[in-house]
Amino acid sequence: MISWQKLLGDSISDPAELPELPRETVEEIEEVARVYPMRINPYYLRLMRQAGPAISRQAVPDIREIRDDTGMADPLDEENLSPAPNLVHKYPDRVLFLVSGQCAMYCRFCTRKRKVGRPEMAVSDSTIRAGLDYIEKNRQVREVLLSGGDPLLLGDRYLEKILRSLRRIPHVEVIRIGTRVPCTLPQRVTAGLAAMLRKYHPLYINTHFNHPAEITPEASGACAILADAGIPLGCQTVLLRGINDDKEIIRDLMCRLVRIRVKPYYLFQADLARGTDHFRTPIDTGLAIMRHLIGRTSGLAVPTFAVDAPGGGGKIPLTPEYIRSLDEQSLRFTNYQGLPCSYPNPSKTPETGAATDAPEEGRRLGCS
Ligand code: SF4
Repeated sequence: MISWQKLLGDSISDPAELPELPRETVEEIEEVARVYPMRINPYYLRLMRQAGPAISRQAVPDIREIRDDTGMADPLDEENLSPAPNLVHKYPDRVLFLVSGQCAMYCRFCTRKRKVGRPEMAVSDSTIRAGLDYIEKNRQVREVLLSGGDPLLLGDRYLEKILRSLRRIPHVEVIRIGTRVPCTLPQRVTAGLAAMLRKYHPLYINTHFNHPAEITPEASGACAILADAGIPLGCQTVLLRGINDDKEIIRDLMCRLVRIRVKPYYLFQADLARGTDHFRTPIDTGLAIMRHLIGRTSGLAVPTFAVDAPGGGGKIPLTPEYIRSLDEQSLRFTNYQGLPCSYPNPSKTPETGAATDAPEEGRRLGCS
């Protein structure tokens, strides 16, 4: 079997090597790749050929990336929320720790495209040490999310060094790894990696699939290795115009994820990263997809649709509107079929028995 290191080494980073592109397109792609790097490994290249534009558009540069003057270089204000190099402390009890500047494939819609794969993303022993020191000194940090770039592009030994250091910090309860390799380079997930990771439980992995065609036998095998090591798996999907902005595509993706033991976690509205405007979808599209999922498929397959507020405001869930009215007597709402329902609103002071004062119709729990 070809090793993941060999596959990664055989990646295409020069657009001229991309098969079947007209000359003028190659020149445009080269122009983009000089600003935002391209890396397509042989595994993802094969998938692109098999599955077509929904896959290739995630990986092949597009001239619109450098013509887009909307958006922000740092849409989530990470640089200003960074008390140590490559460490973002936005929420009170957890930090984002960027431990790798490399990915198995450079996604064209990446929120961190300002630095991922570029010299701006300098990860070194000293940035790792500084991040660990910060975490150690800040006792409110109970969860650490390792991200990048992709932490699983680090070698097993180096990654273990980081995990071991984190586990020595008593207040770090949970370690989470954000990685796209189960999707973009599943060969990276080896039995040896899983055996190493399982020593550092509770350890969670959030991966990232955007299209049902990405759930290949290889990807499924990678997730099985991790799940068998007792690692809970979640998926963060980004809603992307022309790739997955379709109710049935998302439903199919979510159901397939559950089948390979990956819990759909977030469906993200695409961030306002500069160079990604052509991927963004109207908010209504995501809400309509959620309305299609909720009730029509198992809750296990329903992610939270969220927007990461520009400027570092944090993740905010967006839910289709089901509530029609809410007062002291009752909640009136609609179910997934659009049928009106009601629920008697319990009293805030139960001893008064006020909940039973709800009108007769409000006590009917069914929908009509
Ligand atoms: S794998 Fe993640 S960090 Fe890397 S380019 Fe893709 S979205 Fe960005």
